[in-house]
Amino acid sequence: MPGVDLHTHSTASDGGLTPTALVQAAKAADLQALALTDHDTLSGLAEAAAAAQEVGLEFIPGCELSVTHGATRFHLLGLWTPTDADAIQTQLDELIAHRHNRNRIIVEKLQALGMDITYEEILAEAGEGAVGRPHFAAVMHRKGCVNSLQQAFDVYLGDGGKAYEPKKVLTAEAALALLGNHGATTILAHPYQLGLGKDELAGLVVGLKDLGLHGLEAYYSEHSPSQTRAYLELAKRLDLVVSGGSDFHGPIKPKLSLGKGKGDLRVPYEVVETMKIRRLAQGLPV
Ligand code: AMP
Ligand code: ZN
Ligand code: FE
Ligand code: FE
Repeated sequence: MPGVDLHTHSTASDGGLTPTALVQAAKAADLQALALTDHDTLSGLAEAAAAAQEVGLEFIPGCELSVTHGATRFHLLGLWTPTDADAIQTQLDELIAHRHNRNRIIVEKLQALGMDITYEEILAEAGEGAVGRPHFAAVMHRKGCVNSLQQAFDVYLGDGGKAYEPKKVLTAEAALALLGNHGATTILAHPYQLGLGKDELAGLVVGLKDLGLHGLEAYYSEHSPSQTRAYLELAKRLDLVVSGGSDFHGPIKPKLSLGKGKGDLRVPYEVVETMKIRRLAQGLPV
């Protein structure tokens, strides 16, 4: 059984496939359910939902937000994010507007470093989608400014890189309230990225649960089997749900396959079932 994929990106943010093509790929891969979780935008969800209905695939609308919590930064997934909540849309519009300012600063930094790159080229690379650093990397690579997409991040765009510019983000408290108050199931994405030890992570997650966090992304492309086991155990101990996904982006992350991650990822349908049972018990739509 191929399982599900609850963490994916489309051309609505920095993924390579359109929402329709992503849904078709999920169906072709025989997945039992798919969530689309683009960065800071819900703009791909209507198209994906329509395509999923067309091909007969269970679809969960979602999004992924970067948040700060004290000195910690992490990513938060909202599953079953409603597309008709004005408060969410307004907040996401604001985050996208901040991205524009930040992107212009990154372009200026790259130009000051001698690169012949314009913001128009970056916008063209992103198409209709929310502009993100992977679009910069793609243009830099195509124009021969770097030898690989990874080098673009390692030397220029990544945290601490020569053209790094932070993105304005919400606090975890604000993001959990915004998503949670409108019925989304909130998930701490790829917990390995926090780089915390077992006890530190548990302490953080206890605090986030108090702020409304519902679950942990235990199954993830970059998690080792022992990390997955530890996150499953932590979720169980704290009575949190678990989620899982590949973080599929298409060509910009060529090693990650939809549903399969680096090849050995398998997210059981049971995670969707468990989340649905909890949501139904709270009167939330599934
Ligand atoms: P942004 O939303 O513009 O900050 O871009 C975030 C995206 O850039 C992430 O989802 C990753 O796909 C990619 N990214 C960020 N840092 C790195 C890195 N050090 N190496 C490779 N990709 C990265
Ligand atoms: Zn991304
Ligand atoms: Fe992420
Ligand atoms: Fe992601």
